[in-house]
Amino acid sequence: MKDEALAGVPMARAGAFGAARFGSGFAHTFLPGKVVFGAGALHRVADEVEGLGVRRVLVVATNSARQAADVVEAELGHRFAGRIDGVTQHVPTELATEARAMASDLDVDAVVAIGGGSAIGLAKAVARTAPAPPEAHGVGREAHGVGREAHSVGIVAVPTTYAGSEMTPVWGETADGRKSTGTDVRVLPKVVVYDPELSRELPLQVTTASVANAIAHCVEAVWTPKADPINDAVAVEGLRALGDGLRAVLDEPRDLESRGLLLYGACLAGSALAAAGTGLHHKLCHFLGGTYNLPHAETHAAILPQVTRVNAPTVPETARRLAAALNNGTPATAGPGGLADATAGPSELAERLFDLFRDVGAGTSLRDLGMSEGDVVEAAARFVVVENPIPVDAALVREILHRAWAGARP
Ligand code: NAD
Repeated sequence: MKDEALAGVPMARAGAFGAARFGSGFAHTFLPGKVVFGAGALHRVADEVEGLGVRRVLVVATNSARQAADVVEAELGHRFAGRIDGVTQHVPTELATEARAMASDLDVDAVVAIGGGSAIGLAKAVARTAPAPPEAHGVGREAHGVGREAHSVGIVAVPTTYAGSEMTPVWGETADGRKSTGTDVRVLPKVVVYDPELSRELPLQVTTASVANAIAHCVEAVWTPKADPINDAVAVEGLRALGDGLRAVLDEPRDLESRGLLLYGACLAGSALAAAGTGLHHKLCHFLGGTYNLPHAETHAAILPQVTRVNAPTVPETARRLAAALNNGTPATAGPGGLADATAGPSELAERLFDLFRDVGAGTSLRDLGMSEGDVVEAAARFVVVENPIPVDAALVREILHRAWAGARP
């Protein structure tokens, strides 16, 4: 509750951002797709593939998922066409080109991707470059029916981390050290199979990193220009699951229920990102990661509390709900009907995010990640300003970066 600390921050501008939207209206697009959830759900993959009417399947698996890929390969039977074991982060174009050629040679009409954002990213690279069926250009096309669309390659995703890529139509590919991203409904998985058994052995450091990424999807989703009340509800519940799940998994890493809670949170986080898109926080992290070679997840943990400090006051009610969700689902002081404490300031969200990241060892300072104070000044000058509820200029970026660099508690 340190709203006075925001004295120098300009007020929100009126418009698409943050205001009450029931009167002013909003538009929300539900994306097509099916989610199958449960311990042992890996064994449902072959049935789901059959249900899509698919003929031939390429399996893409991260190194740690070889055993799971063996199971899927055997259960796919005659539909199994080929397999790629081992993927590289950020989808290098060389790997994407090889995968596309293999998919084409094998004449596959689906990819089953087992792993984190990197495995799913490679599957997306294949699906994106398959010739588009005429009806695939709009988001609202019919779900499923992969086999009925000539030349399309559908994805069945089996995520084993919490990055949330499986729920989005967003693709990324890296050439010459530069990552390009875009949105294409063809890369949105037709079926997502969440099996908590598969993430039981995920190392705690990778767990924390991918949860930090997912938390950022939930929080930023409430203030982008495409934010809406339906997506707010998804983001709040996603943050609750991720906060509770992360604490529980750090206590007992192999607990199936807690691993399941994190996958559920990741599903909601990916959905929130898919609907709301990215804003100042993701774009700043992307810029810093690419320009100063900073680690992806730790950068999220350092930046998110600081961007939240600036943006949360523009969405005060949703920020209170998010803050309550991070507090084991209960507000610090329960208000009437168990609602979030009406006197809690929206900046409480920034504080709670900072405390969570600090407590789980996710890193809260850019200085600790190797960025120099000089880099902060340079980065603020070079960062290309984006649409944001608070108008962004170099001074505001410098303030955010300085606080993140110093690891200042919001
Ligand atoms: P990742 O897929 O690279 O996996 C991280 C590491 O964990 C890898 O070494 C992997 O082999 C290992 N691993 C994965 N599952 C495991 C398991 N169950 N047990 C043991 N080890 C396991 O990382 P990530 O965080 O899942 O994904 C990050 C990538 O996803 C980035 O490239 C990011 O840009 C992208 N991403 C894309 C979107 C989108 O919507 N397109 C959204 C979020 C992230």
